[in-house]
Amino acid sequence: MSRETLIQVENLYRDYGNLHALADVNLTLKRGEVLGFLGPNGAGKSTTMQIISGNLAPTSGRVLINGFDILDEPRQAKAALGFLPEQPPLYTELTVIEYLEYCAKLNRIPRADISKAIARACERCGLGDVQKRLIANLSKGYQQRVGIAQAIIHTPEVVILDEPTVGLDPIQIREIRTLIRELGSDHSVILSTHILPEVQSTCDRVIIINRGKIALEDSLAGLDSRLRKNIITVSLGNPPELATLTALNNVDTVEQLSEGRYQLHCSDDFNPADFASSAVNNSWQLNELTPQTGSLEQMFIDITCSDNNSHQAEEVTA
Ligand code: ATP
Repeated sequence: MSRETLIQVENLYRDYGNLHALADVNLTLKRGEVLGFLGPNGAGKSTTMQIISGNLAPTSGRVLINGFDILDEPRQAKAALGFLPEQPPLYTELTVIEYLEYCAKLNRIPRADISKAIARACERCGLGDVQKRLIANLSKGYQQRVGIAQAIIHTPEVVILDEPTVGLDPIQIREIRTLIRELGSDHSVILSTHILPEVQSTCDRVIIINRGKIALEDSLAGLDSRLRKNIITVSLGNPPELATLTALNNVDTVEQLSEGRYQLHCSDDFNPADFASSAVNNSWQLNELTPQTGSLEQMFIDITCSDNNSHQAEEVTA
């Protein structure tokens, strides 16, 4: 395992009775990365996060955190890990400071360093003004910040956040997403979510899990290029013959949409700048040149609904 790899998950399986909740899940998290772990309800996200964080044993497979096996060397592995579960483990009868002090002790932060660690986590999570308030009296958004603060109190190299914005209002969602992006500057992050825009606004790379199996893995840039469809819509005030457009370099077929408006189906080498030059040189009066892109939402639906329209993990058939 290279020093740059902070989490390595190998051939993970988890059965619940006769249900394969996870089947051969493999993933890696590199230093400095924010990884989106995306999937519909019941896909296996929480099961994967619980196993990576050492709270659930896999049926088989291996998880290494910073080179340490989470089952064989849990103390060293967990020292590098902060975890916000789907249900944050908050003691609501404590104040924010009391709770974070308790978490600091759990994480074996030396007594002399505890106040500094609490101040740093509160500052990072925007909790400065509510430190002395009872957690029970905080809004859901602030309670979620406290959950994130406990996950980073020991400045772990990796932070795992399981559905961190569920149940928040739109303003709280925006604030928590900003906080996640900020965390990405000094921690590696795995963000488990079923919300597409969350991944697009916060992550460098995405893994889509469906029915307990990894269905797609790509960088956000890679996803963008998958979504580019090589279809260009152009509008010309003084259009040439259809055959002239079809004969252009890297244009495969041309479909006329309306008077002067066309859809060009192009090869990968098509360059819109070349088309614009041809339009200027031949006085075609170019009014519009729009590349068509598919939506990530449609891709997600295509991937996750292709299997019998089921979002559930697979039942063991053997
Ligand atoms: P959600 O977004 O709804 O939380 P998820 O992607 O996190 O979904 P998991 O909670 O990991 O999915 O569940 C994966 C599958 O395993 C589901 O079919 C779920 O019903 C099943 N499952 C999870 N926990 C248990 C359990 N303790 N006992 C039996 N089945 C379980």
